[in-house]
Amino acid sequence: QVTDTLTKESPGSPSYDWFQTDSLVTLVIYTKQKDINSDSVIVDHQVDSFRAETIIKDYSYIIHIGLSHEIQEDFSVRVIENVGKIEIVLKKKENTSWKRLGHPLENHNSLIPKKDTGLNYRKCQLISKECVTHDTKLFCLMLPPSTHLQVPIGQHVYLKLTITGTEIVKPYTPVSDFLLSELKEPVLNNKYIYLLIKIYAAGLFTPELDHLQIGDFVSVSNPEGNFKISQFQELEDLFLLAAGTGFTPMVKILNYALTNIPSLRKVKLMFFNKTEDDIIWRSQLEKLAFKDKRFQVEFVLSAPTSEWNSKQGHISPGLLSEFLKRSLDRSKVLICICGPTPFTEQGIRLLQDLNFSKDEIHSFTA
Ligand code: FAD
Ligand code: NAD
Repeated sequence: QVTDTLTKESPGSPSYDWFQTDSLVTLVIYTKQKDINSDSVIVDHQVDSFRAETIIKDYSYIIHIGLSHEIQEDFSVRVIENVGKIEIVLKKKENTSWKRLGHPLENHNSLIPKKDTGLNYRKCQLISKECVTHDTKLFCLMLPPSTHLQVPIGQHVYLKLTITGTEIVKPYTPVSDFLLSELKEPVLNNKYIYLLIKIYAAGLFTPELDHLQIGDFVSVSNPEGNFKISQFQELEDLFLLAAGTGFTPMVKILNYALTNIPSLRKVKLMFFNKTEDDIIWRSQLEKLAFKDKRFQVEFVLSAPTSEWNSKQGHISPGLLSEFLKRSLDRSKVLICICGPTPFTEQGIRLLQDLNFSKDEIHSFTA
């Protein structure tokens, strides 16, 4: 049964079914949509509840059940993309026959606007923490085995910690480790979330995060954000304008663009920082530019030392008009911009002055 929150614009009603063998219970979700992939479904199993949230356009289809019998911690999720079917295979703890799947919990079997689903959290373990610059660290968090969650490109998660009795929540954008792959074995499964986080000595949240020990836990929310992969369709020129940790959404975008867009001619990153010491993954970016001729990177410093003989200053019409040269007269462009709010706001104004349309600009904001 579908709740009354359905509107005319909402997708066709999804449904679910289940069946069992001696040792397994398979839950099947029929989304009735074709553009469903492994990012579209988030599954959490806790002692007394099983919850699967499937994102279908701007809606969430929720399965939320108190299971009738115990299951093992891990499960598998398979998405059959061309028919929009999701299979979640649970392992029974005991090989008995289940008469029913369980009892419905909040919002079970309902399709509700995504904005109304609330942030759902699970505890993730800190696996490693490495210095990247003098104040920025790469945190690796491990999802529990009882969670299936992948953060889509351009989306962020919220981290939650209790600080002196109050729950504090801040957003962070996961990065991929592709720029590090020369140093490390690539991680093949999706159990890890990498975050590049700047620690502000006088900040509320980041000093606490920095105090966590390896093995400690932090709560991580479902992903959010309005970047759509369809913005890459037929793309020829991709321009990335990043300031400070505003670089984080660009990491996955860069990786995706260079590996998945056949029409792509060039990708240019203009990376604004205060000083040379603040530049995140500088040598990795330079190596990538050397290796892949479609990619170029330019560093702009707002507070350089006298030795710096490249670009300097803040975002400006002069810097942008020189940087944003299309590879062909009418090439399809996308400009992504992210950084401190005044930087992003000023950047958008300058891009509009340069006659780029709204569809050609994606800004990352809260
Ligand atoms: P805050 O307490 O917010 O303070 C930040 C700085 O401002 C400190 O230097 C502090 O001294 C100063 N400050 C605080 N209050 C004042 C005041 N009233 N007047 C003057 N100065 C003040 N950050 C990352 O590092 N990595 C990411 O991947 C990332 N992703 C993000 C994604 C999104 C969608 C958004 C919106 C933000 C993202 N951020 C990211 C920023 C992050 O959410 C936090 O804002 C950041 O970590 C600061 O948190 P904090 O509580 O430690 O600092
Ligand atoms: P920072 O203070 O080190 O500044 C980096 C550069 O930003 C400066 O060198 C300068 O070129 C530019 N800049 C800073 N203030 C400016 C201003 N007032 N006007 C014009 N340009 C300005 O940056 P940081 O401490 O790394 O902060 C990064 C910011 O990016 C944070 O505010 C964070 O919230 C934001 N961020 C947002 C997202 C998102 O929305 N998705 C993701 C990651 C980071």
